Amino acid sequence: MSAVVVRTPAKVNLALMVGPLRTDGFHELASVYQAVGLYDEVAATPAPPGEFSVRVSGREAGKVPLDNGNLAIRAARLLADHAGVDAGVSIDITKGIPVAGGMAGGSSDAAAALVACDTLWGTNADRSTLLALAARLGSDVPFCLLGGTAIGAGHGEIVTPALARGSYEWVFALDGEGMSTPAVYARLDRIRDNLAVLPPRIPEPMMSALASGSAAELGATLVNDLQPAALRIRPRLAQVLEAGRDYGAIGSVVSGSGPTCAFLARDHAHAVDLSARLAGTGLCASVRRATGPVPGARVVES
Ligand code: ATP
Repeated sequence: MSAVVVRTPAKVNLALMVGPLRTDGFHELASVYQAVGLYDEVAATPAPPGEFSVRVSGREAGKVPLDNGNLAIRAARLLADHAGVDAGVSIDITKGIPVAGGMAGGSSDAAAALVACDTLWGTNADRSTLLALAARLGSDVPFCLLGGTAIGAGHGEIVTPALARGSYEWVFALDGEGMSTPAVYARLDRIRDNLAVLPPRIPEPMMSALASGSAAELGATLVNDLQPAALRIRPRLAQVLEAGRDYGAIGSVVSGSGPTCAFLARDHAHAVDLSARLAGTGLCASVRRATGPVPGARVVES
């Protein structure tokens, strides 16, 4: 069999509400995810049993691990163990999603590797099995399988599609230097300094905005509890957010654990204008545009 190619999207958190730290080390989360049209491509080709390898090309490829730390390899091994398949795989990743940018790039590659290897090996795992395996790989991996717009509970891994209408025009300001997700959570814990933290809840106005499909309403409800921690670690992000607002963004938020800043534009023409103006500030390493929601990891060639 030749290569199975899977296209897999980035995510932005429309809401990321962080609750108390649990005894298992995770924070209780309530999140609204949206998959957006910035993609990685993951190609899987057969390899002798027990041989698992990965190559990475494209944007920021040098920052991605090539050993067992690569989430795509871990996903392939997990599926092989689970399905009892005596196989190997050679994985080629073409990165289009920013690395360590708070857009779930590694998680998306893990979701893609599950889908690609399932097709390559003919394991035919059903959706619920793939979602359960995905949850063992990372909090954001189940959402990357699902795509669209979805609610995340638990530590993000329990996903349910959201009632959402409309298509949204996003502009993403990328920072040249990645940020460590655990470091951002640790900073939030320090800011909270043992204050009582309530269970996380998704703001009701966000769910109404999504149901109505109004970009202006949605923009006004974007929220991220990790944002203050991300801004303390990387103060220049506050200037990026301010610049986007000055240029008329109808919503602005740090994406996940950062440092990518996400802006909602009024329409396509505004997104083009906003991205050019943000690029002109010199405050960000690069600027990308994408629409959302889009589907999760899908086979595009086999
Ligand atoms: P999240 O939004 O889920 O917190 P992120 O988008 O901030 O994640 P990733 O791009 O997933 O960050 O990268 C986080 C780290 O994961 C990287 O620094 C890298 O070392 C590691 N990693 C492992 N596998 C991959 C992969 N396939 N692609 C990118 N990074 C990977």
